[in-house]
Amino acid sequence: MVHNTKKPPFPRRERIKVRVENSGVNGEQFINFVTKYRNIKFPRLEFKSGELEAIMPNGKDPSGLVQKYMNWIRRKQEFIISCLEAAKKLETVKRKKEQLELLVDKTLKRYSMDFGLQVNKVFYRKMRTKWASCSSKQNLTINTMMRHLPKRQIEYILYHELVHMIEKKHNDRFWKLIRKKFKNHEKLEMSLFSYWFLLNSPQVTAGNDALME
Ligand SMILES: [Zn+2]
Repeated sequence: MVHNTKKPPFPRRERIKVRVENSGVNGEQFINFVTKYRNIKFPRLEFKSGELEAIMPNGKDPSGLVQKYMNWIRRKQEFIISCLEAAKKLETVKRKKEQLELLVDKTLKRYSMDFGLQVNKVFYRKMRTKWASCSSKQNLTINTMMRHLPKRQIEYILYHELVHMIEKKHNDRFWKLIRKKFKNHEKLEMSLFSYWFLLNSPQVTAGNDALME
């Protein structure tokens, strides 16, 4: 496969054959992915909408990259499948927008006292890629879809965003603060992916912490 075009074509869907040892029929496996060409130096792989995307520098062949990261791809695919499986058993909550706002207000008050910080403004809107995000001005943006989540998940998202106002990165310090209140944060994050699949399918984004800033 040679891509010698200088100008990137539109995203292309490819089905590539990759040799994986000890798997499938004759040790061969098919991987479906979309190739997008950009004016970048380094290629990368992403899972967007539950689908694998190879973001390539113009004119570069993606098959080597896909082969190299085969293990990573399989891990992600398994994660997505298990989230979809778990989503079947989940139930969404019926909550009005006003009820969500009330719960958010109450929870933020409680948690911000713990940290001795003040949230500036809270915005509500439908977001396509994440549950919530926070800005350096201490503003919080809430995905209105959060109204379908159980209380515990809402509390976790808010706490997560508040911790980001202290520590931007997902580093040791960040997770230490998270564990102070949410020892089972991994389970919660997993369930948030499942809820995302449930509420947004087929428009889903999966990846490491892709759903929260
Ligand atoms: Zn985060």
